[in-house]
Amino acid sequence: MTVERNRKPYASVLETIGWTPLIRLNRVTRGVRTPVFAKAEFFNPGGSVKDRIGMPIIERAEREGRLRPGGTVVEGTSGNTGIGLAIAAALKGYRCIFTMPDKMSQEKVRLLKAFGAEVIVTPTAVPPDHPDNYVMMAKRIAQETPNAILANQFYNDANSDAHYATTGPEIWEQTDGRVTHFVCAAGTGGTITGAGRFLKERNPKIQVVSGDPVGSILAEMWRTKGQNKPEGTPYKVEGIGQDKVPGTLDMNVIDDFMTVTDKEAFGMARRLTREEGLFVGGSAGLIVHVAMHVARRIDDPNACLVTILPDTGERYLSKLYNDEWMRENQLLDADRTTLESVLSSKPPTDQPVVSVAPGTTVRQALRLMSLHDVSQLPIMDGANCVGSVSDWSLSAKSLDDTKLLDATVSQVMDPPFPMVDAAQPVDAIAKLLSKSNPAVLVRSNGHVRGIVTRSDMLSYLMARG
Ligand code: PMP
Repeated sequence: MTVERNRKPYASVLETIGWTPLIRLNRVTRGVRTPVFAKAEFFNPGGSVKDRIGMPIIERAEREGRLRPGGTVVEGTSGNTGIGLAIAAALKGYRCIFTMPDKMSQEKVRLLKAFGAEVIVTPTAVPPDHPDNYVMMAKRIAQETPNAILANQFYNDANSDAHYATTGPEIWEQTDGRVTHFVCAAGTGGTITGAGRFLKERNPKIQVVSGDPVGSILAEMWRTKGQNKPEGTPYKVEGIGQDKVPGTLDMNVIDDFMTVTDKEAFGMARRLTREEGLFVGGSAGLIVHVAMHVARRIDDPNACLVTILPDTGERYLSKLYNDEWMRENQLLDADRTTLESVLSSKPPTDQPVVSVAPGTTVRQALRLMSLHDVSQLPIMDGANCVGSVSDWSLSAKSLDDTKLLDATVSQVMDPPFPMVDAAQPVDAIAKLLSKSNPAVLVRSNGHVRGIVTRSDMLSYLMARG
């Protein structure tokens, strides 16, 4: 099957679900040889991977005679499944009632309401079998409402079957069968089970790796084959991890499990947005954090690692994309961002540092600055920075004495730029930059990796907000 999206009109929005793009990660993977690709599920019309399961769940219930025209779809949902179901229900004319734990973002509640659903917010901090638990409450509503089904994403095979039928085959085709690792995380486990199973059937050597938030019990249940059932503790990442193993999660499909903190997950989500232009939610951050760990460990340019970006960052503007919220929750460590991030934020170039030798003439240096659109140049003698020139000081001096245009830069140079390590915190270096010190050279592992100028730093700080 060849895919040519959007060349022809679609019969309805439902046809636009799936065949999401597989996009190579380029920036967060710097220095890592293993290619990492991300399946951008936020391209689905409802903004998440869960659009894939809405219609299959509804149509299975219809086929089984459990849902008839005028009926109601009820579900306990962290939000995204609700949107997937709401889109399908809108086209089929069903009413939707969703229950949702109160840790979920306000945006998600508003979104579900926008689709016409009724939303009941329940307390997060209750045990899974408590009547106020969102799943328990959804069950009760479904039982008490005539002609209603519980979508039951946690126990409904239509969920993982949808990923077996779509997500898995898409990854297989998009990588021409070259995928070697599939990194995902489980909420219901529908994605990892369905897509993982499909991929392993095609090639049993494919490794399926799952990530789990610290506080979820899934990783420990997997490690101990269900022998040790720890207590779940609260965490902030939404949509993944559980305090109970869902029926839709087949642990046998998973080859490795890694536990990730909220801070690591959100940190990576923010980097994906800022460095890759992929505006994603926290679960995507968690999954890519795991993927980077795997990519570094295998260190294989011939491997092909595929990750899932389950939903859009728009759903979390008041949370992980809100610095205040991040600080209140001790999730933001401004001074932990390093110069490395500033370097990564610069547009890619074949020549990370434009420099001149001490014998270069002022005329050549001015031309070079204009050619590369830079305002200053380090004067390099081998690996050492011996001085610097800037366009404003050179132009001031040459206008004063035009003979200087043919002098060498070493005759008119300003002091050298400081050489700083890429692991230095951004805030300390920002303070170092001044009019008399317009740039720093950045070194790592003994090599000059790049230059950070006042204007680079300012652009970075402004984007950081
Ligand atoms: N991330 C987010 C944001 C989600 O809403 C979900 C679904 N709960 C997932 C990941 C996990 O998907 P699945 O339920 O298929 O395991």
